[in-house]
Amino acid sequence: MRVLIAEDEEAIARDIGHSLTQAGYVVDYALDGEEADFLGFTEDYDAVILDLGLPKMDGLTVLRNWRREGRAFPVLVLTARGSWQERVEGIDAGGDDYVVKPFEMEEVLARLRAIIRRSRGLSSTIVTFGPLVLDTRAARATLDGRPLSLTPMEFRLLNYLAHNPGRAVPRTELMEHIYEADSERTSNTLDVLIGRLRRKIGPGLIETRRGHGYMLTSPEEDA
Ligand code: CA
Repeated sequence: MRVLIAEDEEAIARDIGHSLTQAGYVVDYALDGEEADFLGFTEDYDAVILDLGLPKMDGLTVLRNWRREGRAFPVLVLTARGSWQERVEGIDAGGDDYVVKPFEMEEVLARLRAIIRRSRGLSSTIVTFGPLVLDTRAARATLDGRPLSLTPMEFRLLNYLAHNPGRAVPRTELMEHIYEADSERTSNTLDVLIGRLRRKIGPGLIETRRGHGYMLTSPEEDA
């Protein structure tokens, strides 16, 4: 999952970024509204955390720009304490949820997971594909009821596919959403990762759609 953090207070941005990275997200930063606006139009995010009080272009304007132009990624709005007007404006401008500063990081993470889930039509933190069950909150998986030992990167890949049910995810998109921007995003590392995962969960669950990408499937649904 790739998330943009648009926040001008660097300490807050760093704290959120650190927690998100720990939780397995790939994180980009924008320190002002113009940069946020630009990145929201040029990059593909699974969610955006948007502070409303941004320099150069305020967060509400940024959010309205995105929505007017059809940018539909879920947005978690950060608002100042006590400003109910700001919360209302944030929701009306197209925000999916909000967190009031100062906040508990656990709340940010929970609300972020929830808006991403809803945007993908998932109603629960538990996602099931045949024998494979992903606990997206705890970042754990089981196969036939037995705990799977997955590396963080393996879980990221499974989690991203699980959040795109019924859709073949192109390789380039998969790489953009699971690898850090400054890391080795090569075709070969993705092949190795998928090969390793298939050995752990069996060959049938991650389907290769030629020319389209990868998709998680439930074997019994195909039968
Ligand atoms: Ca601010």
